[in-house]
Amino acid sequence: MNKGILVVVSGFSGAGKGTVMKRLMEKYDDYALSVSATTRKPRPGEEDGREYFFRTRDEFEKLIEEDALLEYARYVENYYGTPRSYVEEQLQAGRNVILEIEIQGAMKIKEKIPEALLVFVTPPTVEELERRLTGRGTETAQVIADRLARASEEAEGMGQYDYILVNDTVEECVDHLHQIIVSEHSRVSRN
Ligand code: 5GP
Repeated sequence: MNKGILVVVSGFSGAGKGTVMKRLMEKYDDYALSVSATTRKPRPGEEDGREYFFRTRDEFEKLIEEDALLEYARYVENYYGTPRSYVEEQLQAGRNVILEIEIQGAMKIKEKIPEALLVFVTPPTVEELERRLTGRGTETAQVIADRLARASEEAEGMGQYDYILVNDTVEECVDHLHQIIVSEHSRVSRN
């Protein structure tokens, strides 16, 4: 059986990655979405074990000590990390695994797993990015400002990714991402 592909998706906070991932999972059966652990507090409507495993700082540090995370990073005051066992099991079972993580984590994955495919999702314009981030309505002005500052740092790292995807409409973005992954399976160096 072919091994699955590890697909790392990053993008500015507010680029619409969450929506794109949700739609990708609904539309295609070919993907397993990794659920990260975080020390961030749940937003209204988020559930433990569905959007994230919400953990205390102590619990998170224990995961680090036990080497239970494939990568982790600090992002605007909180820790975020990818549980290792789920990713390894799914890849072994031939499933493509999607990690929706920020850029530092993406770079760590690239170092550890060079065959991972790195995709960066961006909104069509900076104005649209601000509009989406503010429109979410769950973040304070300070958090929005921090996330926008972080976005400009991340823009510098976009060149490290294999693909840049413009999220103009969700449907097009999802289909484009799926096509990229399907093509990647046919790459000669993977077979
Ligand atoms: P949010 O708080 O908006 O859910 O996520 C903030 C940022 O953390 C996003 O850029 C998201 O992609 C990233 N993130 C989520 N899970 C992980 C993870 O497991 N590892 C890393 N490095 N970043 C993550």
